Amino acid sequence: MCTADDYPVRAAARSRTLAELDGRLVMCRACPRLVEWREETARIKRPAFRDWEYWARPVPGFGPSDAALAVTGLAPAAHGANRTGRMFTGDQAGDLLYATLYELGLASRSTVTDPADGLELYGVRVTSPVHCAPPANRPTPGERDTCRPWLARELRLLRPTVRSAVVLGGFGWQAALAALERAGWRVPRPRPVFGHGARTVLEPADGAGGPLTVFGCYHVSRRNVFTGRLTPAMLREVLAGAAETAGLRVVRPEPE
Ligand code: SF4
Repeated sequence: MCTADDYPVRAAARSRTLAELDGRLVMCRACPRLVEWREETARIKRPAFRDWEYWARPVPGFGPSDAALAVTGLAPAAHGANRTGRMFTGDQAGDLLYATLYELGLASRSTVTDPADGLELYGVRVTSPVHCAPPANRPTPGERDTCRPWLARELRLLRPTVRSAVVLGGFGWQAALAALERAGWRVPRPRPVFGHGARTVLEPADGAGGPLTVFGCYHVSRRNVFTGRLTPAMLREVLAGAAETAGLRVVRPEPE
């Protein structure tokens, strides 16, 4: 039953490919509060989106199954990815993220609207530790833990190719480290501390695959951008460094 709270553990473990994982993820109803919220949001809608048929289900990661760089946020936005069904699509946070990836040569287009817009990511997979939109953008620790098997399995399946990760925000940092540990990397104790520009290298616990360099970055939330806590240049610098560490070819804009 996809309503059982152990559904994520069982279904993620059975998934041998990201396509299988995504197919099972979108059926998940393990967190009653989040299921209610994502569906209620879709019923009420925002006036600007009244003609939209909201996705209102868990939002899977987006990007190639052999990505070298993973970018993890926190959770889908109620009227963004919960509406469009694609990670970071439909809100200002995603607009900035994808525009920056495009600028660096890691995405096929600078503007995104919906899953039919033709966006492709080159070597990058964008995902999150919680896959359903939470009220006030705040999942509970219990919801974060219930959702962890999905991200852990996604990272496990990416392990042959992924070499760096950018984690957006402090909540995402804690959640991502726990998922990375479960996915097979050794996370030191005490755990590395989050900060913008923080960087830590995790070795594979079983010696298989390669090390993973994890980069901290302030979240691309509207608030952070509006207050100047995160500028486009700061985001670009972290993403470019992480992509280069992962061996991706990056187009760096000319200095102004
Ligand atoms: Fe399932 Fe995660 Fe959504 Fe909870 S947040 S219902 S575990 S997909």
